[in-house]
Amino acid sequence: MFKQGEKVDIVTASQQFKGVFIKEEKDFLIIKLSNGYNIGIAKRNIKEQKSLGMTKEEGKEEKELKDKEAKEKPNSKLPTIAILHTGGTIASKVDYSTGAVIAQFTEEEIIKLFPELKQTANITSRLIRNMQSEMIRLAHYNIMAKAVEEEAKKGVDGVILTHGTDTLHYTAAALSFALESIGIPVILVGSQRSSDRGSTDASQNLLAAAEFIANSEFSGVAICMHEKTADENCLILPACKTRKMHTSRRDAFRPINALPIARVNVEKKKIDFIASDKHEKDKKEKEKKKLTLKLFNEKLKIGLVKPHIHMFASEILAYKDFDGLIIELLGIGHVPSMKVDEFTEENEHIIKAIAELAKKMPVAVAPQTIYGRINMNVYTPGKQLLEAGVIGNYTDMTPETAFIKLAWLLSNYEKEGKEKIKELFEKNLRGEISERSEKESFLN
Ligand code: GLU
Repeated sequence: MFKQGEKVDIVTASQQFKGVFIKEEKDFLIIKLSNGYNIGIAKRNIKEQKSLGMTKEEGKEEKELKDKEAKEKPNSKLPTIAILHTGGTIASKVDYSTGAVIAQFTEEEIIKLFPELKQTANITSRLIRNMQSEMIRLAHYNIMAKAVEEEAKKGVDGVILTHGTDTLHYTAAALSFALESIGIPVILVGSQRSSDRGSTDASQNLLAAAEFIANSEFSGVAICMHEKTADENCLILPACKTRKMHTSRRDAFRPINALPIARVNVEKKKIDFIASDKHEKDKKEKEKKKLTLKLFNEKLKIGLVKPHIHMFASEILAYKDFDGLIIELLGIGHVPSMKVDEFTEENEHIIKAIAELAKKMPVAVAPQTIYGRINMNVYTPGKQLLEAGVIGNYTDMTPETAFIKLAWLLSNYEKEGKEKIKELFEKNLRGEISERSEKESFLN
């Protein structure tokens, strides 16, 4: 039988398959095709099979050249950027022993993959975690915020944080809140294709982030990802108003109820600000001195619930021992709350359950529609929610940002009481709530 990682050529009665052998199962051989998909081929259908040799990860010569480049001295004319790695696809490569995208690069290997970065900045790099981003807990935001603070204190000109894309927008919001008055740019970068693939978006996203740090006066937290599926431009996106809107496209990250901050063309070394550049040099200098870490209470339990038709009150009551709850309201601000005929009695129990929870903890809201603003004063179910004591009327945060903001407010302002939490939840602190709803900020 083949070894894991061996290139194979398998012919069945109807087809020929070339790929990397992953494993043998009782009736099947599993191989990874060059398009990245794994397939199982039934053993009984195999007419011919042969080995095409072992795969190799990297040519020796190429590796030696990259090693040499990595040892070069810093250039005093260039800014310094610290790259902090947290894991995800951007830090992954195909594991040739299994064929899956799981093996991770060391921090040095990642930098060696993108030698062009050195033309823009002196790069320092360290691995602060090596995890898939869906595994993140509040404690990891504290680790990341402290690592950024450490770099800021060393005097770097900016930080790039590489991150898995699944929850990159949660982390961007979390760091935005935790790093109060950060006077340097902190840009989160991910990729949808692993860094060792020809089709990777990692290099363009990293280079654009470095270009933006090196050649703009921006300070604060933002995201840098592809604007379109092609490798043309990247967008710098607002940390608290961006969301992953596609499972796999390279342009999955879109601004929600907001415009992108800027567009970066790496090849032409061009930065165009789209939303106004409020980050002038003076402000940046002043803020640098005031950086305050406001971390997360790692023990908090915050829920995020999505009302739907045929809902049950027990879905709300499941959170009765939590510290806070975000409800993703239907439409402009509703849950099933009224008995309208013989089938709808449960709805009354739902609104009662919300009122019960709102007595014990902040119950805040965000739009399930994703786009638009909550207004609970338009229809009766909205008014019932306000009477039940929910907070967050007139806000337009994504549910993910609302979740992070509530966790952060409870971590830092709980002692100041319920009214303070309500006031701050409904107030724009980090660009998370738009003052006006602009028509250009829909589906862009
Ligand atoms: N699920 C992983 C993560 O978010 C991989 C996805 C990615 O990085 O694009 O970390």
